[in-house]
Amino acid sequence: MSVIPEKFGCMVFNDKAMKSRLPKETYDAMKKTIDEGKRLDIETANVVASAMKDWAVELGATHFTHWFQPMTGITAEKHDSFISSRSDGSVIMEFSGKELVRGEPDASSFPSGGLRATFEARGYTAWDPTSYAFIKDGVLCIPTAFCSYGGEALDKKTPLLRSMECINTAALRVLKLFGSDATAVKTTVGAEQEYFLIDKDMYDRRRDLILTGRTLFGAKPPKGQELDDHYFGAIKSRVRDFMTELNEELWKLGVLAKTEHNEVAPAQHELAPIYSTTNIATDHNQLTMEMMRKIAKKHGMVCLLHEKPFDGVNGSGKHNNWSISTNTGINLLEPGDTPQENAQFLLFLCAVIKAVDDHQDLLRIAVASASNDHRLGANEAPPAIVSMFIGDELAAILDSIENDTAYDAKEKTLMKVGVHILPKFPKDTTDRNRTSPFAFTGNKFEFRMPGSSASIAGTNIVLNTAVADALNSFADELEGADDFTGALHDLIKKTIKEHKRIIFNGNGYDESWTKEAERRGLLNLRTTPDCMPYYISKKNIEFFEKNKVYSEAEVRARYEIHLENYVNILGIEALTMIDMVKRDILPAMSKYTDVLTKSIVHKKAVIADDACEYEVNTVKKLSSLTSDVYRLVCELEGSLAEAKNMSDSLKKATAFKENVLQNMADLRAAVDEAEEITSSEYWPFPTYTDLLFSVR
Ligand code: ADP
Ligand code: MG
Repeated sequence: MSVIPEKFGCMVFNDKAMKSRLPKETYDAMKKTIDEGKRLDIETANVVASAMKDWAVELGATHFTHWFQPMTGITAEKHDSFISSRSDGSVIMEFSGKELVRGEPDASSFPSGGLRATFEARGYTAWDPTSYAFIKDGVLCIPTAFCSYGGEALDKKTPLLRSMECINTAALRVLKLFGSDATAVKTTVGAEQEYFLIDKDMYDRRRDLILTGRTLFGAKPPKGQELDDHYFGAIKSRVRDFMTELNEELWKLGVLAKTEHNEVAPAQHELAPIYSTTNIATDHNQLTMEMMRKIAKKHGMVCLLHEKPFDGVNGSGKHNNWSISTNTGINLLEPGDTPQENAQFLLFLCAVIKAVDDHQDLLRIAVASASNDHRLGANEAPPAIVSMFIGDELAAILDSIENDTAYDAKEKTLMKVGVHILPKFPKDTTDRNRTSPFAFTGNKFEFRMPGSSASIAGTNIVLNTAVADALNSFADELEGADDFTGALHDLIKKTIKEHKRIIFNGNGYDESWTKEAERRGLLNLRTTPDCMPYYISKKNIEFFEKNKVYSEAEVRARYEIHLENYVNILGIEALTMIDMVKRDILPAMSKYTDVLTKSIVHKKAVIADDACEYEVNTVKKLSSLTSDVYRLVCELEGSLAEAKNMSDSLKKATAFKENVLQNMADLRAAVDEAEEITSSEYWPFPTYTDLLFSVR
């Protein structure tokens, strides 16, 4: 791309496009809608729609779609052309305000978790003017929310927008007490995206990758990631070409793709955007994943977004960098220069600490999936225990506030909130605690548990709502206080005392942490079925209802969908394994055994006393493994049938986790052992070496 600033956002109907194409009063009305959530009347919507269509047609678009995010976690679109017929048989290109504002996708097959009876299965989509429309593949995409006719959210955007509204109101209440002149508060997110790139020819020969996104078999390669020679290494030219094209396409769509590098595992990479408001960051992350998949194909590669495509090699996550800022340009998680600013910072910091401690279960649930279960708690990702890292300096400051002790041994300063200036503590740039699931990094928090393939909406819905809830409880206490500074100091002190158990600055990968966390009473919810019951606890339903983010029916629907999804994924994986074993792996093992056996007979015919050690030992081993594999695949079929027959969704998911998953692991172990002694000429699938090192 020759002139980046000129091309940036050229496929987006952004502020610049609106300014140049809308009449002044329409533009002003649009601005009010975007900034303040004012409803747009239908006349104005008609003008906007018409200008949007002209703009899109000039850029080659022929269709439009309401682009939405159903509860599957990916995006959905149904295209309609702009064509409208006239009585003389000709056509004109038309797009009305009504079509812009509201759509009725025939979307009865999306999961609704029982929210929508089939007779009213359609649901409708409603324009989200806070996220700009854009053109993708010749289609004008209009970001929309997806709801049932009863008004229940059937998607991930609606609750995200509700949670943003919730934290906006709560934060403004608190800011008012500090005399702030801010009129809007938004949370900001930068989602770092990890992914694998592998050769398409290799991928095409692996049914497990095609059907499940991960390898279900594969012996360890002679070389893995132990040399750390891939991390930040020189980028191979084929990957570089992919990255160049990806950046260009993302920039055209207004996505602020910024940093890219090789990750720890071979064939693993990362892309980080510049942060934006949460709603847009969520839309942009979806677009980023879609573009990665599409553009990889053009370069003869496949982009794997699965959390754990390869056993024994690092998995992929999505680091959710999160902060809160005002429309006056203040990052509320940035320590300031005056006692007043510092006090405000400490209060917002405490709100996050309280939020994470009070809602460990929901944060864990937000990142729970069959695929992420393989990654959390493995030795490259945070454990399934939610805790926070705030760095030693900040911990020492909180400690001194809590205990009324001197912060600095030399100067013997007592920390009085609202009176003293916080000592300067270094921004955490070198001393990264990479083992912490939720780390303070100087002016934002980095939540590292989300999986690479998941939408970040779920995570941010919980974060926004939990912090908003904490801020509201703070405002309740402070609003009537006679001595604001005194009350503030006491509140911060009390919050630290009550919630400091969630703060852990040590090594989260260390086994001793699991014990320590248990002693502290922190939750350790290892798998999806373990954490799901918490979703529908009385406490959590009340929490979502009180903050108007989910109704009880909406929470229960999500609980059902989550479990159903877990069971479906494991079911497909088990069937894929069975298919690969029965149709390819067992026949290959049998065939190679036969080759060796024949070879023994032939050899002995020539040299009667030859012991044929290699052939005989391998035949024995392979023959015994063949029996094992056959027995294990039958066991898997049995446990799968049994689990599938269960009707209660939690019991079913638990049976999948405890029996099916265990059988799958045992079967894999036996198959991988066989792979190591079978001639590569007979092994039916590309190996880990082929998959991880074939992009050159
Ligand atoms: P690090 O080196 O800690 O990873 P970066 O500056 O590279 O820090 O940021 C990582 C991600 O965090 C980027 O996507 C960046 O845009 C995002 N980020 C930075 N500041 C904020 C903020 N205030 N709110 C949300 N995300 C942020
Ligand atoms: Mg980072």
